[in-house]
Amino acid sequence: MSQTTASKQRVCPACGEGRLEPRESTQQVEHAGVEGTIPLRYAVCDVCGSEVAEADEARANKRAMMAFRKDA
Ligand SMILES: [Zn+2]
Repeated sequence: MSQTTASKQRVCPACGEGRLEPRESTQQVEHAGVEGTIPLRYAVCDVCGSEVAEADEARANKRAMMAFRKDA
């Protein structure tokens, strides 16, 4: 078990060494024949380069997707 105190920096779940840096990009989506782009939030590990979307990012992405579907 880890005894380290929780810090703001998140450790990469893939390599366990790198720190996750938040990034934001856009994602092409389509719904009901309507195409659009929604913001895509994720984090990139500065050691192994893994792209991960944790709870916070996943929630934001889901919200953006639902907003887009509502408009479509
Ligand atoms: Zn990593």
